[in-house]
Amino acid sequence: MRFSETDPFTLMIDRLRDGHRELIAGSVPADFLEVKEEELSFPHPVSFRGEAYLAEDHLIINLEAKTDCELPCSLCNERFMRPLHLPTLTLAIAIEELRKPFYSFRDELRTALLLEVPAFAHCSSHNN
Ligand SMILES: [Zn+2]
Repeated sequence: MRFSETDPFTLMIDRLRDGHRELIAGSVPADFLEVKEEELSFPHPVSFRGEAYLAEDHLIINLEAKTDCELPCSLCNERFMRPLHLPTLTLAIAIEELRKPFYSFRDELRTALLLEVPAFAHCSSHNN
């Protein structure tokens, strides 16, 4: 995916000047996670919401994100789907490191969501 000023992950820094908070909300196809593993897939869009603002010399972004992942059960190896929830992602980016008038949190969101994928998970047939 190209870095674009109109993608749902991109914030225009100028719109945050003078204490403006920008609400973030989006739902995007899970393709941006770029997972090409046979065992792991993301059949549903990723939805996210949060806010962004400038605090002194940092751009602050708070996000929550949700989707579903499909993976093999650690006990029976059946593939099953479970919710994937990233409760909070807080980013603080030094404004002087921003080389462009906009900032995309796509890569950070991608990394943080993938870290939420459990290494071991079991399907509901083992619950009792
Ligand atoms: Zn199982």
